[in-house]
Amino acid sequence: MTIAKHKVAIIDYTLMDDEGNTLDQSENGEFAYIHGANNIIPGLEKALEGKTGGDKAKVTVAPAEGYGELDPNAIQKIPRNMFPEDMEVLPGMQFQAQSPEGAMMVLTVADIEGDTVIADANHALAGKTLHFDVKVISVRDASAEEMEHGHVHGPDGHHEAH
Ligand code: ZN
Repeated sequence: MTIAKHKVAIIDYTLMDDEGNTLDQSENGEFAYIHGANNIIPGLEKALEGKTGGDKAKVTVAPAEGYGELDPNAIQKIPRNMFPEDMEVLPGMQFQAQSPEGAMMVLTVADIEGDTVIADANHALAGKTLHFDVKVISVRDASAEEMEHGHVHGPDGHHEAH
């Protein structure tokens, strides 16, 4: 069976930056996703189309096909008093906020300057060229329940809350 729309692909991957530093890798050597269900970034998904169990691939993904370009407008200054007083605000901390359009977004505290918190809504991997080293372990059909949920379930059909 080959990777195609709405097949479940189980892959082992390592993600590296331009310098070859590992940014991420599949937990326990296995990561499962539904092809064509927006589970993974478009650039990687395209490169895996048609692959089958045992295939290996080195895939380079430009930011536009990955986590997007860095958006300077996504960096915002937020008064410290917008956060609960008893909450410790530290660089690297992530929190959710509502955009002016009403969408929920995840921001990361980039810096704290006096009474101002500099928050960045860019994805941590935005603007980065991504280098994947991928091995396809196996490919199977998605179950009806998986298709309904839009994500892969474990071998026993259970999964964490979502
Ligand atoms: Zn589910």
